[in-house]
Amino acid sequence: MASELAVKQYLALWLQVGKTISSLQGEVLALPSSIRQGKHYSLEFEQCWRVLLRHPHRYYLTGTDLTFEQLLSPAWELNPCPRCVMPVPIGHGPPAEHNLCPCADLCSWPNNELPQPRLPVDEAPLMQALRRRLETVG
Ligand SMILES: [Zn+2]
Repeated sequence: MASELAVKQYLALWLQVGKTISSLQGEVLALPSSIRQGKHYSLEFEQCWRVLLRHPHRYYLTGTDLTFEQLLSPAWELNPCPRCVMPVPIGHGPPAEHNLCPCADLCSWPNNELPQPRLPVDEAPLMQALRRRLETVG
């Protein structure tokens, strides 16, 4: 099951590489202009996350078809994508077409020449754990 923390990181990382948030009602959610502020998430990002948590069934990462409510449900886990090492939702059981990384429609990503997306310093060990896990799998 993807924890709230893991889903928050998923959002923070994907926003940093140019993903946006869509809503089922077509409303536009203002994206934070920054994600991090030193050791912490920026206030704007925290605010954006709180809006999402209030109505997680309404919002999803643009280009994906899983709402935040689904990501927070026990049916999904976040694992590193084999192509770009970003967290990607993996469903328990079929349908397999859902196991698509949000990077699939980002032609600018992965890009090793760009600064890599980062989490606040306090969260960095979790990302390192993700990378280590990927290395042992690959
Ligand atoms: Zn990917």
